[in-house]
Amino acid sequence: MSKLTAIRGMNDILPEETPCWQHLERTVSHVLASYGYGEIRLPLVEKTALFKRSIGEVTDIVEKEMYTFNDRNEDSMTLRPEGTAGCVRAAIQQGLLSTTCRLWYTGPMFRYERPQKGRQRQFHQIGVESFGVPTPDMDAELIIICARLWRELGIADSVRLEINSIGSTESRAIYRAALVAYLEKNVSALDEDSKRRLKTNPLRILDSKNADTQTLLEGAPSLSDYLDQESEADFHRLQQLLNEVGVKFVVNERLVRGLDYYNKTVFEWVTDQLGAQGTVCAGGRYDGLVEQLGGKAVSAVGFAMGIERLVLLMKELDVVIPRAAVDIYVVAAGEKAECVALAATERLRSALSDLCIVLHAGAGSFKSQMKRADKSGARVALIWGENEVAAQSAIVKQLRDGKGEQSAIPIAELEKTVRSIFGP
Ligand code: ATP
Ligand code: MG
Repeated sequence: MSKLTAIRGMNDILPEETPCWQHLERTVSHVLASYGYGEIRLPLVEKTALFKRSIGEVTDIVEKEMYTFNDRNEDSMTLRPEGTAGCVRAAIQQGLLSTTCRLWYTGPMFRYERPQKGRQRQFHQIGVESFGVPTPDMDAELIIICARLWRELGIADSVRLEINSIGSTESRAIYRAALVAYLEKNVSALDEDSKRRLKTNPLRILDSKNADTQTLLEGAPSLSDYLDQESEADFHRLQQLLNEVGVKFVVNERLVRGLDYYNKTVFEWVTDQLGAQGTVCAGGRYDGLVEQLGGKAVSAVGFAMGIERLVLLMKELDVVIPRAAVDIYVVAAGEKAECVALAATERLRSALSDLCIVLHAGAGSFKSQMKRADKSGARVALIWGENEVAAQSAIVKQLRDGKGEQSAIPIAELEKTVRSIFGP
């Protein structure tokens, strides 16, 4: 029989790694709460039409990366490839957009991509979206939140911020025409992907990785020369605000985002430590999307970060993660001793809820249980045998710092003794 294994690009995240994820998630939820963002929990599956209409038909995601299937009713469903579409759908449907609305979410996203370091088919994002504010102070707020997160996670020195403005829909259309005219004159110098994009999504050619295409682009018209006045003023103001709080950035004129719905500010946080998959967080303004999906004309700006890439970076940088370790291992030999140990352990757990106490299960000799206690990494073993049950006491044995020191403690004083070992 062939072995059952996980689907390629969909990984197990093991207990050894989850402390890093939990640390990241705790930090993010704490920081976001402190800026007034509320968590929204969204379905993993949405109607396919939602993604086609929001992300755009001629994007990589919709063209070749979506997990789309018909359900038993023959309705087309898609495992969400990103979170913004569902978040906007929910915000409209649930009537959240009558005033400024700050939301965040986290969870798995699904894209049929070539799995490699920092690129999976099921990956995880934390997304942050803000609705109802058209001015660049909100763009700044989101970027500043990222900067604070990187500081709190200990990765601030290894990520850099790139920003750009891609202007209004109108100004971008004019630029698009100029870019296409230039590239059509030089079409033979374009790589295959870019040739295809010339017809469908020419702005994406700007971030082509092909060296010849990049050389050709040096002579191309520049997006910044085509910006409308408002976009230019907003971009200027954003830079001023970032300077004010000391968030460093570089303007990258080639930065365009893959999805159709962006306008004005776009940004990415990039690291050099992860090879080709260096973008750990990306976002921008998408003022037209709410209306495009059937809501009122409500401005919006947001970003999403890739948890796997951030975890890789934290590992790469040896960021110290608070880890839960076993504090106490409880050993009991004999049926009566097991009962007494169970009750005493439950009392200790109620009194000292911060400690991790593992109660041996599955019986066995003292010797084999003590081996488990040692292996668990616990600092202390609490031991019950027949003698301890009769004497209404327990043995407290130091497994690490006390050179095996042990003493019998009356059960009534157990809590006090444990407290004195582990501190308040
Ligand atoms: P890339 O250019 O690397 O494919 P993207 O522009 O497709 O990224 P977005 O849709 O903006 O990515 O998603 C935001 C973030 O989510 C990315 O910056 C990245 O950190 C993460 N991400 C996107 N796709 C993947 C994936 N397949 N595996 C792991 N992380 C991903
Ligand atoms: Mg991608």
